[in-house]
Amino acid sequence: MNLWARFRGGVHPDARKTTAQCATQPLPRPERVVLPLRQHIGAPCQPLVKKGDEVALGQPIGDVDAPVSAPVHASVSGKVVAVEPRLTPGGRTEQAVVIEAAPEDVPWEGLPEGLGWDLDPESLDPAFIRDRVRQAGLVGMGGAGFPAAVKLTPRPGSEPDVVILNGAECEPAITSDHRLMLEQPEQVVLGLRLFMRACGARRGVIGVEANKPDAAAKLSQLVAGDPALSVEVLPVRYPQGAEKMLVWALLRRAVPVGGIPLDVGVVVQNVATAAAAAVALAEGRPLTHRIVTVSGRVASPGNWRVPLGTSFVDLMQAAGGLTGALARVIAGGPMMGIAQPDLDVPVIKTTGSVILLGPEDLHETPAGPCIRCGRCVTACPMGLLPAQLCDAAMASDWARAERFHVRACMECGSCSYVCPARRPLVQSIRLAKSELGRRARGGRG
Ligand code: SF4
Ligand code: SF4
Repeated sequence: MNLWARFRGGVHPDARKTTAQCATQPLPRPERVVLPLRQHIGAPCQPLVKKGDEVALGQPIGDVDAPVSAPVHASVSGKVVAVEPRLTPGGRTEQAVVIEAAPEDVPWEGLPEGLGWDLDPESLDPAFIRDRVRQAGLVGMGGAGFPAAVKLTPRPGSEPDVVILNGAECEPAITSDHRLMLEQPEQVVLGLRLFMRACGARRGVIGVEANKPDAAAKLSQLVAGDPALSVEVLPVRYPQGAEKMLVWALLRRAVPVGGIPLDVGVVVQNVATAAAAAVALAEGRPLTHRIVTVSGRVASPGNWRVPLGTSFVDLMQAAGGLTGALARVIAGGPMMGIAQPDLDVPVIKTTGSVILLGPEDLHETPAGPCIRCGRCVTACPMGLLPAQLCDAAMASDWARAERFHVRACMECGSCSYVCPARRPLVQSIRLAKSELGRRARGGRG
C-alpha cells in the first residue's frame, strides 16, 4: 500500500460493503424503460425519436450538437410510447424517452464496427478514439456524469501526462465498481490504454482502496511488465475517490480552487467508464447497461447488470423485495447520495447504487447549537470552515458564504458526518451554492 497516498481531512464511515462478494447477475429484462435525455453534465439531448417509433438496442434516441454533451441510446429494443418529462435520480425533471420492450433485443444495424478485443490502442488515431467515446454516450459513471470525450480532448497549454482511473469506490455500501474490477479487469485496463492514447498521456495509474485487495491483485497482474501502467493501493478513507483527493494522493499535484485535474496535467476517469470505452471500441456497442448495487432492507442485496432506464421498482423486485416498511430510497451512497421521493425513477448512467432504508435505519435527531468543537474543520478535505458556511447560509448572507469559499465545497458530507450537534452543514452549503449559482445566472431558475 502507498502509505504516502493520503489527503488532509476525511472520515472513516462504516464501510458496510456487504455485497462485495455478490457476483454481478443480469437483471430480468424490464417491460419498460425510461431514458432521460440528460444523463450527463451539459446540454440536454434533443429527441431523435417520437411516440410510435420502433427502436433497436443501441440505437441513438437523443443527441445534441453542443460541446459538452453525450448522446443517449435505447437500452432495449421496442416501441417508443412517450417522450415526456420524467423525474430523474438527480432530483430534476427532464425530457425522457419511454420505451415498451419488445420480447427480444435486436442490435441496431447502424452500430459502428467493433475493432475486436485484440485491438492495439497505439495504432489508433486519438481523435478517432475520442469520437467513438462520444458516439457511445460515455460519461463519468462514478456519479459526476461529465462527458468522457470532453475530458479526453487536450486543451492548448494543458496537455495531460497522466490518466488516473478511479477505482477507490470510497462511499459506504457501494460495490458495483469493485465487482466490475474483479469481473472485467481486462476491459478496465484496455480502457485505460485507450484513454491514454486519446489524450496523449504517457502514464496510467489505477487507484484502488485497500479494502478491495482482490481487485487490486487482478489489475496488478494485468499491468505487470508495462512500465507505463501501475495500480496503487490507497488507504481507506472517505472521500478518497473525489478527483482532487485522488490527484493529490497519487501524484502530489494540487488542483487549484475552481480548477479541474487537467489544470495540473491529469485526466481522471472512473473504472466503469474505462470498461465501457473498451466495449465501445472493441465491439462497437454504446453505453446501454451498467452494474448497480442494490442494498438495505431487501431480501437479497447484490449487484445487477441493468439496462439503463430500468425503474428502481424492478431493482427492488430483483433483490427479492422489501423485508419491512420502506422509509427512504437513496440513489448513490449514504454520504453523497440523493434521497428519492419514491421508487418510480430510472437507473441512469451515473447510478451505481440504490439503497432502500427502513424506519429503523433513520436516526434523525434535531439539530442543536454549534459547540465550536472544530470537528467539521478537521474533517473537511478542502480546508473550509463548514460551521461558518452554515451560519452564513442560515443568515442568507450569500456574500459572506462566498468570502468563505463556499464554491470550493464538493459536498462530500464529511463535516455533517462528524458534527456532534447534527448541524445541517452540507444541506445549508448546498443551499448557498445553489443561491449563488442562481444569482450568477441573473436570478433565473
Ligand atoms: S464543507 Fe464541503 S468539502 Fe468540506 S467537509 Fe463539508 S461537504 Fe465536504
Ligand atoms: S462540528 Fe458541528 S458543533 Fe463542531 S464546530 Fe462544526 S458545526 Fe459546530
